[in-house]
Amino acid sequence: MGKSFAVIGDPIDHSLSPNIHNAAFRELDLDCSYIAYRIPQGELKEGIEGLKKIKIDGFNVTIPHKIEMMKYLDKIDESCSLIGAVNTVTNKEGTLKGYNTDMDGFIEPFKKRELVIEGTEILLLGAGGAARAIVAGFAKEKAKRITIANRTLENAEVLLDFAEKIGSNANAIKIHDVDLMTNGYDIIVNATSIGLKKEPSPISLDGITDKTIVYDIVYMPMNTDFIKKAKEKRAKIIFGYEMLLGQAVRAFEIWHGIEAPYNAMKKALLGGF
Ligand code: NDP
Repeated sequence: MGKSFAVIGDPIDHSLSPNIHNAAFRELDLDCSYIAYRIPQGELKEGIEGLKKIKIDGFNVTIPHKIEMMKYLDKIDESCSLIGAVNTVTNKEGTLKGYNTDMDGFIEPFKKRELVIEGTEILLLGAGGAARAIVAGFAKEKAKRITIANRTLENAEVLLDFAEKIGSNANAIKIHDVDLMTNGYDIIVNATSIGLKKEPSPISLDGITDKTIVYDIVYMPMNTDFIKKAKEKRAKIIFGYEMLLGQAVRAFEIWHGIEAPYNAMKKALLGGF
């Protein structure tokens, strides 16, 4: 019998995950389907019951359910307990197990380019859910130090506590105080939501060089103002779609136990832009 998968969240209409996973099924000739299923905030419990009734084999979880979903899991993978949020779930005869593939998805583009994170100075803009997975990734890869810069300093300090708990050397500042200090960082990541609505870059990037790695996790539009400014400086660029693809590839491998067809998934994703 064919297997079925879904992504749950709200809003969900514009999710690119169905495109990516269905392309993978076509490429490997798998008898599977993947749909987007809108579950509004406050209706997660009923939504999950519905998914169990139709014997869904697995699903992705996105905004606003990534943290609340933890309550409904029977088993929790280490990636998930570390970050405290879930984005991938398997359903084995009614037993739900949660994973978080955002961390691996974020790191994947560095690996693909053979860029070394160990010993680097990091500037991380933002302190939300995605930034937490990113801090966990940088800690795992042994970055030298992470400077967390956020609009709300208190939120940066909460993430700083987490970074220190998992053994990272980190500090927290206000994003407003970054501008004159962009030199001296090997890697600069935008993990705020700035760019989604075509806003100007959150920082100037004047001090960077062609050796700086600049990574924007905002993936729509692909060329944010932050990316454009980095390109002007001929920095090494990593795009947000690469993280999106990385987490999807990892989720695919968890569900199907075989290597994901990266190129077919990438093509489907880029066709969605
Ligand atoms: P959260 O809502 O958890 O965090 C949002 C962050 O952006 C906070 O640090 C917030 O600061 C900051 N922020 C929002 N608006 C502004 C503003 N006007 N000025 C300054 N800072 C601002 O979101 P997520 O962490 O889940 O996601 C962040 C972004 O990353 C989203 O755009 C999302 O689409 C993208 N993303 C991409 C992924 C990928 O695979 N490429 C995966 C996950 C997310 P404050 O604390 O002050 O509110």
